[in-house]
Amino acid sequence: MIKFLGRGSAFADENNSAFFKYENKLVLIDCPMSSFTRIKKMDLTGIEAVDILITHTHADHISGIAMLIDFLYFTTKIRVTVIAPCEKVKQNMIYNLTELDGCESGWYDIAVATECGAPYIKAVIPTHHTEQLEGKCFGYNLDVNGTNVIYTGDTNTLEPFKPYITDDSAVYVEVSSIPVPVHLHLDDILPYLKEISAKGTKVYLMHLDNERAVEEKIEGTGIELAPLNQTAITPDMLFDITDKLYKTTCNNTENDHTAIFGYLTALGKAIIGADRASFWKWDKRRHELWTTAATGVDKIVIPDNTGLVGKAITNKCVVVTNDPYNDPDFNSSVDKKTGYVTKSVMVLPVADVNGEFIGAFQLINKFDDKGFDIEEDSRKLSLPALICGLALESDTFLDDAHHDRLTKLKNRIGFYSDFSKRYMKYLDGKTDKPLSMFICDIDKFKLVNDTYGHNAGDQVLEHAAKLLMDSCEEGENAYRWGGEEFIILMPDTTLEQATEKAEKLRKTIEASDFPADGIFIKKTMSFGVATFVPGKSIEDNVSIADGRLYTAKETGRNKVVNS
Ligand code: GH3
Ligand code: MG
Ligand code: MG
Repeated sequence: MIKFLGRGSAFADENNSAFFKYENKLVLIDCPMSSFTRIKKMDLTGIEAVDILITHTHADHISGIAMLIDFLYFTTKIRVTVIAPCEKVKQNMIYNLTELDGCESGWYDIAVATECGAPYIKAVIPTHHTEQLEGKCFGYNLDVNGTNVIYTGDTNTLEPFKPYITDDSAVYVEVSSIPVPVHLHLDDILPYLKEISAKGTKVYLMHLDNERAVEEKIEGTGIELAPLNQTAITPDMLFDITDKLYKTTCNNTENDHTAIFGYLTALGKAIIGADRASFWKWDKRRHELWTTAATGVDKIVIPDNTGLVGKAITNKCVVVTNDPYNDPDFNSSVDKKTGYVTKSVMVLPVADVNGEFIGAFQLINKFDDKGFDIEEDSRKLSLPALICGLALESDTFLDDAHHDRLTKLKNRIGFYSDFSKRYMKYLDGKTDKPLSMFICDIDKFKLVNDTYGHNAGDQVLEHAAKLLMDSCEEGENAYRWGGEEFIILMPDTTLEQATEKAEKLRKTIEASDFPADGIFIKKTMSFGVATFVPGKSIEDNVSIADGRLYTAKETGRNKVVNS
């Protein structure tokens, strides 16, 4: 079948182009520079000729052709035939290859598709893409080893292709996740693609501007991304990833490990040749395992001790299953939700430098149909698993440092870290929207300790923290500022709204029964509310709210003061 050397749009690292083998020929559909570098590394044993079918002459489709002609002419006896969709494009290609790129006419053949006699070309389909290339953009109807194939090339309409689509066809469609006039907007054509896919047509999406966004939209539809040609990893590919990993680490000023985990998963996938990879972090505080990089789903959280990841961590050993649907430890709920078919899974538990298991590295669907080899693949994955352990350890340290153990709320360090990442824009004037806060303090808290003991005091703090956390809405955060003082930050909230929220919380607290070492007691809290003043420091802003809290205490407690 058709395999892709790259499936990205013009601005991606790897531009769109495909290939298939026809008898002793390698047939390429377009050949950007990124595809040339891949073909150069391909095993071309048995290939006697290369045909390059041109869809149109944009650089992200033809920029590798001259290099490929040069390379094959000087290093092999393989002859290249450039097949243009029409006479005009043929003349343009001659100009481009010979006049501009300097390929002598004797180094390659050139023909028009309808006249070249290639048995796999059933029809050349004129279409519309950019105005400048009007009349010179085409797709193809091909016979690829018995399958009726429709390949759109770049187009802004599906209409010319529809007559060629039958229920047993394979259709390769270009799509764009954002609407642009020269490409097919996925939202517009998705209903039609779903309809033909339901009837049996295989639909593959190519020339993608944003793989993740496209993948999310086709979840569960049976429509797939165009299949990539997986090649064995070369040192060059490996170093490309480790170089990015190293540079990301060096530039990681925001304590954000997401990008690092992203490159580590890419490294694991490339080394093993697997479709998906993810890191799971064991959150011992919450007894959860969670990951963000497995699928298009935002964040997956599962109880620890469950699933294949839980098994690998609990048993401290590598887990492999090459028949997951018959494995009692495999949790198929993500597949059910997304339509993804898991065929093989491998999980490596990862430890910190002290041998404490802190997470796991999971790979899904090895390209090799035989599935994962527990010995060989563990050995190959040892380096990313080791780096992953160190990154997770640092992530855990950071997380611990940002949280208060008793209440599980973020502490003052967490407050400053969140502020620099999320809330700074409210202080440096980058937004007109208001950021409000309140600082609140349990009234006569010392009495709890003195009357019921320190344990009771701790429980009261935990309960207060829970009420505060529960009151937080999307985007809001609660912090333990110190002792029995807490802060809630509320973005895009006015002083009036923040006051209202504080008042509501004050009443909830007043009405709540606080556990205190075997009994329940009543407690109240006082609140100082303020809206951040841009230009002032964080500390000066907190002081304003703190002053109001002081007023609330001075004037009777159990009240909200906002001026
Ligand atoms: P006010 O209404 O003026 O706020 O009076 P208060 O008694 O709540 O305030 P004060 O600042 O005098 O007392 C706070 C007490 O909180 C003193 C300290 O021992 C106690 N405390 C601070 N952190 C903890 C903790 O983690 N656990 C317990 N049990 N007590 C704590
Ligand atoms: Mg107090
Ligand atoms: Mg206090």
